[in-house]
Amino acid sequence: MKESLEALERSAFSAIEEATTPKDLEGLRIKFLGRQGTIASILKEIATLPPEERPLVGQKANILKERIKSQIDERLKSLGSPLGAKAHREDTTLPGTCGATGRLHPLTQVIQEVCDVFLSLGFRVVEGPEIETEYYNFDALNIPKSHPSRDTFDTFYLDTTHLLRSQTSTVQIRVMEKEKPPLRIVAPGRVFRPDAVDASHSFMFHQVEGLCVDCDVRFSDLKGTLSLFSKQFFGPKTRTRFRPHFFPFTEPSAEVDISCILCDGKGCRLCKQKGWIEVLGAGMVHPNVFRAVKVDPSRYRGFAFGMGVERLAMLKYGVDDIRLFFENDLRFLRQF
Ligand SMILES: [Zn+2]
Repeated sequence: MKESLEALERSAFSAIEEATTPKDLEGLRIKFLGRQGTIASILKEIATLPPEERPLVGQKANILKERIKSQIDERLKSLGSPLGAKAHREDTTLPGTCGATGRLHPLTQVIQEVCDVFLSLGFRVVEGPEIETEYYNFDALNIPKSHPSRDTFDTFYLDTTHLLRSQTSTVQIRVMEKEKPPLRIVAPGRVFRPDAVDASHSFMFHQVEGLCVDCDVRFSDLKGTLSLFSKQFFGPKTRTRFRPHFFPFTEPSAEVDISCILCDGKGCRLCKQKGWIEVLGAGMVHPNVFRAVKVDPSRYRGFAFGMGVERLAMLKYGVDDIRLFFENDLRFLRQF
C-alpha cells in the first residue's frame, strides 16, 4: 500500500508538470482528487486493511491528497490562469502603477528656455556665488560709492564687506578676471533686494545676465541678438525697441521693449495702452568695467544685458502676481 502511494505521487506530479493548459489540470484534478478519483478509491480500500495499518495509510493518503492539490494550484498559477491561487496571483496585463513624479518649476523652465536660445547662439552658461563682496557687486561694475543702490535700503549687507548679490552682473566680472576674450556667456541665478513683497516685488528673484566680448562687437550685434531672443521666446511676430537709458556699467545703455504680446502694439490693459512692454536692460560694456578686469578697452568691446526671469514668466504665462511662484501651491505649479 505504501509503495503504491509513492508510485501515485510520482505519476501525479509528473502529469501535473507536463500539463500545459488549465483544462489539462482540471482533468488531473478530477482523476486524482475527484469523488471517483484515485485517492478516493485508496481511502475506500483502507477498510480492507488490517486495523493496525489503517491510521498510518489514511494519514499518508490525506497528505498526498493535499500535496497533489497544492501542486495543481502552483501549476495553474504558473500557467497564468484565473483559477490559480486566487488571492496571490498578479495580473501582469494591468497597467503599471506609477510613482508620483514632479516637474520643473515654471521659473526653472523659463531659465532653461532663455539659456537654450543663447546656447544656440554660441553662448555658454556660467554660475556664480550668491554671497558677494562690494567689489564684485559694485566697484568693479563702475557703480560709484555714492550710488543709491549701495544703500542698505537697496542691498542686503551681511557684514561690512559681504552682501547678497543684488544682480547677476557680478558673474561678468568673475569670468573676465579668469578668462581672456573672446567671451560669450549667460549667467542665470538668484538675486536679493530688500523690497517690500507685493504683487510685482519680491526680496528674492531671478535674473539672466548676458555678456559678449570680442574685438569687433557692435551695438548692432546687441540689437540683433536681443531681437532674435525676443522672437524665439515670445513668438516670431515680436518686435523690439531700444530706448536710451543709463546704467553705470554700460555706455551707451538702453532699455529694451517688446511689442505687446496681447495686442501686438494696438494698446491694451497689459501694456497700459502703450503697445510696448519693457523686458530688459542692455548696453555696451563700459570701458571702466574692462579696466577693472584688465581687459584693454581700446582693443576689446562688448555688450551686456540683463533680464528678470519672473517678469518674463509672468508675461509669457499671463501670471499677475509674482508671489504665486514662491508659495509652492501645487494647484498653481501643476499648470506648467
Ligand atoms: Zn497691449
